[in-house]
Amino acid sequence: MYPATDGLLVAAMSEPSRTAISVVAPCFNEQDVLPEFLRRVGAVLDAVGGTSEVVLVDDGSRDRTWEIMTAAAAADPRVVAVRLMRNHGHQLALTAGLSVCRGERILIIDADLQDPPELLPDMMALMDQDADVVYGQRRQRDGESLFKRATAAGFYRLINRLTDVDIPADAGDFRLVTRRVLDLLLAMPERHRFIRGMVAWIGGRQVPLHYDRHARAAGESKYPLSKMIRFAADAITAFSVVPLMASMTIGWVMAAVGFGFFIYSIVGWFMHATLPGWASIMAAMGLLGGMQFLMLGIIGAYLGRLYDQSKGRPLFMIRDIVGGRK
Ligand code: UDP
Ligand code: MG
Repeated sequence: MYPATDGLLVAAMSEPSRTAISVVAPCFNEQDVLPEFLRRVGAVLDAVGGTSEVVLVDDGSRDRTWEIMTAAAAADPRVVAVRLMRNHGHQLALTAGLSVCRGERILIIDADLQDPPELLPDMMALMDQDADVVYGQRRQRDGESLFKRATAAGFYRLINRLTDVDIPADAGDFRLVTRRVLDLLLAMPERHRFIRGMVAWIGGRQVPLHYDRHARAAGESKYPLSKMIRFAADAITAFSVVPLMASMTIGWVMAAVGFGFFIYSIVGWFMHATLPGWASIMAAMGLLGGMQFLMLGIIGAYLGRLYDQSKGRPLFMIRDIVGGRK
């Protein structure tokens, strides 16, 4: 489905029908914010000038999102409405939009207006100074619970300790990337995508743009705690095998402790000082059993992802594409 990495640059240079800018937004049940989103993005693109497109991906919404999108596509040739077969989740919906878009520069943004599209000109100015990626970095986060902020902060600390990739804290997927970076991103076939990490992994010159993150314009977050935990697990397992290696370290420690117990019991036996030992056996069993289950779980987490990946199914399935320039 994706072009091979070799020759990507050539393909990008010879691609005939590019627009200057693509704005790509995944939308899941966003009927309440979409009209305002389209109005504000449209105004920004008018101000920036040049050719542009807005690629909206309907990620299996159950509300009127698709109707609003297709109406917008009918009214404005810049709007491209993409509908997926079903809900694929934020990262894969975004990937679908990115694979459809044709811009030389691509703005990745959420549809909920938490990240202001008005920053596009500033991002473009930074990109003009030879940047491959300009990522939004949040100064403050309005309307997000203390819990969400604390878990996010803890998560970024953890992932940066566990991985070699420098993933900037307090940055979401809101960013402007070049076509070159996008093609490299799309050439990565992995299924459990942590896009901000994958973009960081690509490298090049990546510069932050500081901004204040607002509360959602309307509707509610589609990221409940369960999805956040899954997202964090995807991120860590996609970029780090440290948890897998941890079983080795713990194994060595447990082996050393076990050896100590062995010597102790032999010596004790020779000295006729062995105790009934119920407590120590139970303690050791509990500890070892717990550790083994933990390690099996970690191995399972990787194995499951490996299995998913090995199936090689398409990452997303598009049902319709409506509108846009021909
Ligand atoms: N989203 C999506 N599919 C999903 C969940 C979310 O396309 O299954 C979109 C959603 O419409 C929004 C973006 O991903 O444009 C970010 O979601 P949300 O704002 O709910 O997350 P939060 O900002 O609360 O972390
Ligand atoms: Mg949001």
